[in-house]
Amino acid sequence: MRVALVVAAALCATSLQAQTNYDTVQVKSTLVARGVHMLVGAGGNIAVAVGDDAVFIVDDQFAPLTPKIQAAIAALTSKPVRFVVNTHWHFDHTGGNENFGKAGAMIVAHDNVRKRMSTEQFIASLNRREPAAPPAALPVVTFSDGVTFHINGDSIVITHVPPAHTDGDAVIRFTKANIVHMGDVFNNAGLPFVDLSSGGSIHGIIGAAEQVYATTDAQTKIIPGHGALTNRDRLKQYREMLVALRTRMQREVAARRSVDQVLALKITEPYAKDFPGGHERFVRLLHEELSKR
Ligand SMILES: [Zn+2]
Repeated sequence: MRVALVVAAALCATSLQAQTNYDTVQVKSTLVARGVHMLVGAGGNIAVAVGDDAVFIVDDQFAPLTPKIQAAIAALTSKPVRFVVNTHWHFDHTGGNENFGKAGAMIVAHDNVRKRMSTEQFIASLNRREPAAPPAALPVVTFSDGVTFHINGDSIVITHVPPAHTDGDAVIRFTKANIVHMGDVFNNAGLPFVDLSSGGSIHGIIGAAEQVYATTDAQTKIIPGHGALTNRDRLKQYREMLVALRTRMQREVAARRSVDQVLALKITEPYAKDFPGGHERFVRLLHEELSKR
């Protein structure tokens, strides 16, 4: 348990969650729009779509929270969870897969989510080895570019974006409800974790932000991987910050500044109020990625 908590802290957007004790976590549910709810507990934000046909959820946090997540869903519908879609492989988003799979849900994710969960992974920036997931936790349906669910009177469009937070990210759009779940491609609580060990790239995060912005409107509700429910104005602010920081880092790398020299410049400080978490990790990974290209 202790190891899990340390890693949860490392992956989660805010340091507040560093003290997470699963026994005291409350899973809170908010109606977003048209049968789609957002559940917040510990780990990645969950979307739950309920309706006449099936219960469909996006991500499932940590295994010890499954009973609380199930109780929160039971307060919305008497139907069982039929589909679980993972936004990416990280265990603060897929930890409940085994439990939900065993309870009868079909787990769906990008090809690379299954690939990474099938073998031991090493996340260099966290110096953390993650063992292969048990077979019951693996996605049973995978896709390369995307897949659409036609349920509950809505079209739920799942689109893989080029390498961003990881190489297996999916953005989920509830078309009629006008909601987009962006997973950790959009961290609304801090700077993004560009997981280079999992094939991530700052260019993909910026590209995905642009793609979602271009295909949404002022009324669209955006569920970020971590942080509060938000909208495209905030996504625009996030994207502009990342473009500015990428440009700045390109300049520092071209000037052959070391990562420690760049850290000393505090280039992310102007954004600390709006996006408080993960600054040092972001600078280190941005420097590493841009130094390679
Ligand atoms: Zn993640």
